[in-house]
Amino acid sequence: MAGQVTSTTFDLDADAAQCLAEVITFVRKSRSVTRPEIATSTGLSRTLATKYIDVALELNLLQSGEVGQSTGGRAPRLIDFNPNAGTILVAELGATGFNVAASDLNGNLLGTTFTRVEISDGPDVVLALVENSFDDLVGSLKIKNLWGVGIGVPGPVEFATGLPVSPPIMPGWDKFPLRERFSTKYKVPVWVDNDVNLMALGEHALRNDPITNELIFVKIGSGIGAGILTHGQLHRGAQGCAGDIGHIALSSNEKVQCRCGNLGCLEAVSGGLALIRDAEVASSKNESAHLKIRKKAKLRIEVRDVIEGSNNGDRWCVERVVKVGSDVGTVLATLVNFHNPSLIVLGGSVSAAGDKLLASIRETVLSRSLPLATRDLQIRITDFPIESGLVGAVEMVISELFSSENLRKWVSVGRPNQSSIHV
Ligand SMILES: [Zn+2]
Repeated sequence: MAGQVTSTTFDLDADAAQCLAEVITFVRKSRSVTRPEIATSTGLSRTLATKYIDVALELNLLQSGEVGQSTGGRAPRLIDFNPNAGTILVAELGATGFNVAASDLNGNLLGTTFTRVEISDGPDVVLALVENSFDDLVGSLKIKNLWGVGIGVPGPVEFATGLPVSPPIMPGWDKFPLRERFSTKYKVPVWVDNDVNLMALGEHALRNDPITNELIFVKIGSGIGAGILTHGQLHRGAQGCAGDIGHIALSSNEKVQCRCGNLGCLEAVSGGLALIRDAEVASSKNESAHLKIRKKAKLRIEVRDVIEGSNNGDRWCVERVVKVGSDVGTVLATLVNFHNPSLIVLGGSVSAAGDKLLASIRETVLSRSLPLATRDLQIRITDFPIESGLVGAVEMVISELFSSENLRKWVSVGRPNQSSIHV
């Protein structure tokens, strides 16, 4: 994991930083390209392309790779992105635990671990555990070239500041200075975003398929939220809370009170916590044979019990899963008409309900959306339930590090550090 640490520095003006960022980003996304291909794709003259390729080579961000195919003359040497120039640490915080991993600059995860803790225990308890896990990774992987930290949280985040803002399932976290905490400890830049935004970015990176350029990623966990990609770019909105679909009202259930204070929100009716609430009632009323067994054994009912009941054909559990699908599908139908995605991907604990949930969502979306909007629409469950959020956090950090504005700041000191980026 240890990459060669460069001490080379460059003072670039804004235009030069823009050119350098375009060259690096193109090579990073394309892998193994020739110098003329870089010039053609970035629109730079050959002279300028050569200049910035050489700058990136000196910074150890690009490297000369294999010899490519000859088109007549001398075979060209291919240029590659150097994924080992830096290491990123990422954490994805959920309602009942968090995943952490280290990653190279290509998003290859190393040392992924899960720690169980309630997010409602508050930032001091949870973040001390996250730091322990990070420190373990730094020690076991001998990380000496840490370049950034990325954090996903299960609530709204003001992206510019990295502050959680009134997160409903995170008491004690409102405006907690997450960025400051990690950047002070690790001396590197830190970015924080809502977890489902990162899952959308991760799905895009992991699938590496143009269909993900117009993507809605829907997380049905304790709450419900969506991450929206347009032209492959995350749509965060003015403050960063675009896609917070859990609080769209379902007109048919306006009597259910939501944690946000409103009535009839999607997640108050059909999120994971709503599922557990309804399952408790059903088991006490003997409406579900499957859940009654849990209740008799005095076991706490969890989302997975309802899913297990549904898979075993328990009528109440099947109907409840189908109801989640029709409620989520009702909201998604509106989003499909509004946004016209190519792909909807479902993640989160409730998405483990699988085919019954998927069929119900598909049926509702297809019956309520315009035919043109659903003609080529695919709806599926994620193949990357753990990786998508972590890889998305890596993508967030890397796209920020290689934005022309930030790149200009840190190449002037040789490597990304806390003070060069967060001023
Ligand atoms: Zn609400």
